[in-house]
This record gives sequence, structure tokens and C-alpha cells, in this order.
Amino acid sequence: MRIIFATNNSDKLREVREILSPLGIEVISQREAGCRFEAEETGSTFTENARIKARAAMEATGEACVADDSGLEVNAMGGGPGIYSSRYCGDEGYEKTCAKIMDIVNRNGDRGARFKCAVVCVFPDGGEISCEGVIEGSIGHVFEGEHGFGYDPIFVPEGFTRSMACLTDEEKNKISHRGRAFRQFAERLSERMEKEKKERGNADK
Ligand code: IMP
Repeated sequence: MRIIFATNNSDKLREVREILSPLGIEVISQREAGCRFEAEETGSTFTENARIKARAAMEATGEACVADDSGLEVNAMGGGPGIYSSRYCGDEGYEKTCAKIMDIVNRNGDRGARFKCAVVCVFPDGGEISCEGVIEGSIGHVFEGEHGFGYDPIFVPEGFTRSMACLTDEEKNKISHRGRAFRQFAERLSERMEKEKKERGNADK
């Protein structure tokens, strides 16, 4: 089965391909599907933003489209930057932005943080699959690791002593917010495909 992933983020595309291709799902980027826009994220939750991106791509391509919206929630920032994670970094670059977050956390003392990921897939028949994945952890004391992307170098997953950027893509996908959300999505997608197959079978009788 083929699914269009409504993202222009090559890091996410790589991770999601690694998660879904062993499950027999071919992931096409929206660019490969001929869609060259970026929908504006005007929602107030991860799920709302994922739905906006998926719906825009589905309307442009006429095919089932999946999108995710994700971010880092930091206790010492009242849950921020959250849905603004990408915009919070802006053009400053992640090294500087991570240093800024580490400084806020060092002054506050509460190191608790989590990555969240909402996945929404919309289908041309009006159907929708929506899932969420979370990974709890803390903001580390140093910027470390060369894998992953974004805030990975300062995020230490619960039960680990080093940052998420010290994990390979395969190790990260096993525990990450995105890995959890997309594996759930794959399960729900195969249930939907099974149901459709049965319904087609009944209609042919
Ligand atoms: P989105 O494209 O609006 O979902 O932006 C998500 C932003 O959250 C990214 O640009 C990163 O700043 C941050 N983020 C989400 N997932 C991760 C991750 O797995 N590692 C590091 N940063 C992440």
C-alpha cells in the first residue's frame, strides 16, 4: 500500500519511512506526489495541526494523506515550546535554541520534558485515523550526540543516561513519540484495509 506523507521535513520523512516500510507501507513525500506547498499550522493542538496538513495534501492529490505534528514540551516553560517547537527555533538554529532552553531549565530546576507526536491520516471518502505518541524524559546538562535532529541533543529519554541524539535512527524509532504514533497508525490502517477488503468481498457475492 502507498501513502502520501504531507511533510517537507526530510528528517521526519527518513524516520517515518524506516518505521512504515518494514510493515509493507510505501511512503511517498508530498513533493514526490507533486504537491509543493506548506499548509499553515493554525491549530491549537498537535492533532489539529496534523489534520490541517493532511487535509490540505489530500485535497491537492485526491489520495489518502498522512501528516504528523510534533514538538517538545518543557515543564520549566509551562509546556512550551509545544506546538511552536519549530517556530521557537526559527532561523536561530538548534544549537543556540537548545542552549536557551537549557538555560531556562537550569534556572528553574524542573528538568522534566516530553516529546509528543500526533498523526492524522485523512481519506478521500471522509474517513480519518488519528493517533498520538509520547516519550517522557528530561532536559540534559550538555548538548550531545550527532544523530536525529532538532531538540534531540538536549533530550534524555526516561531510563537513559544520554541524549536522544546518541541513539541511531533505528534505536530512536523504537522508543520515540513518532515511532509510537506511526506504529499505532500502521495497525489502524491495516484494520481499515482488512475491513474494506471484507466489504468488497461481500459486495461481490
Ligand atoms: P512540525 O513540523 O510542526 O511537527 O515541527 C516539529 C518540530 O518539533 C521540529 O521542527 C523540531 O523542532 C521538534 N521536534 C519534533 N520531533 C522531534 C524529534 O524527534 N527530535 C527533535 N526535535 C523534534
